[in-house]
Amino acid sequence: MKKMPLPALVAAALVAAVVLGVAAGFGATGVARTFEQLAGAAGEKSASNEKDARTHAASDQGSGTAPEAHDGREKSEGDAMASGGELVNVENLQVERASASSIELTWDAAGNATAYEVERRAAGSDTWEAAARIDAADAAGTGVAWTDELDSAEPQQYFYRVRAAVPSAQGEKRASSDDAGIPASNLLVCLDPGHYAGCNEVPDAESPYCEGDFTLEVALALRDELAETYGVTCVMTRETGSITLGGMSDEALDNTAIQLRGEAAADCDLFISLHTNANLDNANGAPTFEQPTSITKPIVLANTVAASDERALAVANAIGEEVADASARLGIARKGAFDPVRGPQELRTWSDAFNDSTTENGTVSIRRWNGGDYYGVLRGAANVSVPGFIVEHGHHTVPEMRQAAAEGTLAPAWAEADARGIARGYGFEAAQ
Ligand SMILES: [Zn+2]
Repeated sequence: MKKMPLPALVAAALVAAVVLGVAAGFGATGVARTFEQLAGAAGEKSASNEKDARTHAASDQGSGTAPEAHDGREKSEGDAMASGGELVNVENLQVERASASSIELTWDAAGNATAYEVERRAAGSDTWEAAARIDAADAAGTGVAWTDELDSAEPQQYFYRVRAAVPSAQGEKRASSDDAGIPASNLLVCLDPGHYAGCNEVPDAESPYCEGDFTLEVALALRDELAETYGVTCVMTRETGSITLGGMSDEALDNTAIQLRGEAAADCDLFISLHTNANLDNANGAPTFEQPTSITKPIVLANTVAASDERALAVANAIGEEVADASARLGIARKGAFDPVRGPQELRTWSDAFNDSTTENGTVSIRRWNGGDYYGVLRGAANVSVPGFIVEHGHHTVPEMRQAAAEGTLAPAWAEADARGIARGYGFEAAQ
């Protein structure tokens, strides 16, 4: 999701919408009266749902989603429905995380619109609810903006659709309601493409491979997939081959100052460091870089914060399952199984033997040191109280894996698997 530059008038419209929201909430101004008239019987329906009215700042603006809700109410000037209007989807609707507990919607103003109806549907629910009704007269300009103030900062996902009420020459009718809407979420994920350009190169003339380059490829694809398919926003520790954080760069951020990568997740809900795995030299009696596909398994290393966070473990399980499945489908792993953990007591303590095993499934693991996290990157995320993972997607010491990476099929497959895992862990839906 890309931030669209909007005219200054949009900012004014946003202020207007927020002011209107507050005014309507107290029901004490002329503007609020306009909203009550527009809302009609639907306003009563909304008000009768006390929980909605309390928790959703804009719900008492009503909407009139059912045609019969307009029966028997006072007509007001500018009411498209009363004068025989229709609802049409607005153009260029954009939704974006605005803060930990708010989502901003922007769309193009429709020249003949009298009002805009904003509807939203929570992930996992079939019900569209009225979120706001904005008088077009109060949202003049080329663009309109409205901010959904969520009831908490807990990660949540909604689908949004906005329709404009416009006059119609064909009598009263409504647009169909089958618009699937656009997903958005307040979830903020910090992605850390492991290492930096040129790191962990494998001497392979046929399929040249470099972990520090490939992790960036996966991370950029994951960022885009999360935004486009799930409406999830990411911050990145790097978007190029080089990394700079806190005055440090490449080598230091892969060594003595590596915890700064994890600390970059401050204010995020989740930290994920993306990697590909290796093994001890000549593991399993095979040359170091000629390992069998049976060694390929995702290992999700959790930090101490994630270890005691039920939802974080659900995300870790789902990422592991999705990556294992994707690897098996691509033929770079012998099987697609992953062992999910049902609680912190089932976290596997990482070991070389497990890492290099050709018979065990991948699972969620932990590696402690001195009462904290062994890996500096995970310690960094723990320092800022953020659940964090290192995702070891699979072994780059397997020739088939390097071949899939060189052919370009692996990075998008793993990125989609990671995104599906994150979404499943939070109970989010994919856009239709
Ligand atoms: Zn690595």
